[in-house]
Amino acid sequence: MPVSTRFAPSPTGFLHLGGARTALFSWLYARRRRGCFSLRIEDTDSGRSTRESMNAILSGLSWLGIDYDEGPVSQSERIPRYQSVVSRLLDENKAYHCYCTVEELAAMREEQMKRGEKPRYDRRCRAGSVHRKGVKPTVRFKTPLTGSVRFQDLVHGRIEVENAELDDLVLLRSDGMPTYNLSVVVDDMDMGITHVIRGDDHLSNTPRQIHLIKSLNVHLPEYAHLPMILDADGKRLSKRSGAADVTEYRRAGYLPEAVLNYLLRLGWAYGDREIFSTEEMIELFDLAQVNKAAASLNREKLDWLNRHYMKTSDPKAMSSLLARHLQELEVSFDGRRGDVLDQVFEAMRDRYHCFRDMAEGALFFFTDLGPYDEHAAEKFLTSETIPWLEYIHGELQKLEHWDEASIRAVIDGTLGKFSIRIKQLGPPVRFALSGGMPS
Ligand code: GLU
Repeated sequence: MPVSTRFAPSPTGFLHLGGARTALFSWLYARRRRGCFSLRIEDTDSGRSTRESMNAILSGLSWLGIDYDEGPVSQSERIPRYQSVVSRLLDENKAYHCYCTVEELAAMREEQMKRGEKPRYDRRCRAGSVHRKGVKPTVRFKTPLTGSVRFQDLVHGRIEVENAELDDLVLLRSDGMPTYNLSVVVDDMDMGITHVIRGDDHLSNTPRQIHLIKSLNVHLPEYAHLPMILDADGKRLSKRSGAADVTEYRRAGYLPEAVLNYLLRLGWAYGDREIFSTEEMIELFDLAQVNKAAASLNREKLDWLNRHYMKTSDPKAMSSLLARHLQELEVSFDGRRGDVLDQVFEAMRDRYHCFRDMAEGALFFFTDLGPYDEHAAEKFLTSETIPWLEYIHGELQKLEHWDEASIRAVIDGTLGKFSIRIKQLGPPVRFALSGGMPS
C-alpha cells in the first residue's frame, strides 16, 4: 500500500516549532517513499480557530519548503460526514446517547474524587438511555469493558493499555459537533492515512482512536509519536514563547534551510552530522532513528547553522535579504546606497548570525547618524581625540581615490603625525563614523 501521511494542525495560534517538526518528519517520511503527504486543518473548535492562524501555518510551511499533495482539507467543512459515521455507530449499537447534564457529570466527578477514585463517566446511560425532554444528548462510544489495546509505536515501541482504564469517550457533543478523537479517526480513514506521525502529547489518545477505528472495520494505521521539545532550560516549550513560533525565526532573519536542519535534528540523528540538503534529508530520514527522549532547543546550534548557510548561499540572494531587513528598519534604497549592498554583506556576514542583527549593525552605512549616545561621546570625543579626528577628516576629504590603500595611508599618516597607535585612534574613528563600536 502506498505510504500516506498527514500534518493536522489546529489553527489556534502560530505555526509552532513542534508542529513544524511534525510536518517535516511526516513530509520526509512520505517523500522518501514516494507517498502522499496531506495537510488537514483541524478547525472544529470555531471559538479558537482563526483565519490568521491558518495563514500563518500555510505561509510557515511554504517558507520552509514543505509542500503537500492533498489539502488543505478543513474539518469544519466535514461535519455532516462525522455525524453520519456516528449515526452508523449508533445503528450498529457501538455508541449510545448520553443524557447526563453538565451538572450531573460534575456531581459524579466530585463524588468519585471524594471516594478517592479516578474521576470518569460511570456509563449510567450505556445500558439503555432514557430520553429526557429538553436535554440534548451527547453520543458516547462503547469502549470495550475488558481486555486491553496494544500497538507497536514506531518510536516508543510496544504500548499496551487496559481497557478498564479508558472512558466511554464522547463522539458528538450535545450541539452535534464532533470531538477531536472522532474527527481525527474519520479523516485518517477517509484520507487513507497509513502512518500517523504526531507529537507524543497525543499518545494517550491513540488507544481510544484504535478502538474507534476497529469498530469501523478499517485497517489500522501505523503510529509514530514524536518526542516533545524542551526549551533551553529543560522546560516544555511554552505555546506562548517566541522561541516556539516559526514566523519569529523568519522575522529575525534566519534562513529556511537553517531552520529546517535545526528541526530535523530535534529528535532525529544521523551519526553526528548536522548539515543536510533537502535531498539528503529525504534520502536519509527514517523513523527508526527518532529518539523517544525529549529533544532540547539549542539556539547556538541554530545560529551556527544560519551562519553556515549565510556563508555558502548565493551572495546576491543574501544581500537582497539584507536589503529586505534594512527596509524593515526603514532604510530606503534610493540612488547610490543600494550599490554597496553586496560589499556591506560581504563585510558583515562573518559577524552576525541572523539578518535582523546584521541589518541593525549595517544601519550606519545607509542612514545619517542620529545624535550620538552621550556617554559614549564623553568617552570617545575628548580634547585629546578631537584634533585627531579633525585631522583625519581633512585628509580623507582630500583623497582622490577612495580605496583601501589610500585610506590606510591616511590612517598611517595620522598615527605618525600624533605619535599614537591604532589602538588609540581606532575606537574614536569608528565611533565618529558609525555612532557605535563595530570594528
Ligand atoms: N490537531 C492536533 C494538534 O494540533 C493534531 C492531531 C493529530 O495529529 O492527530 O495537536
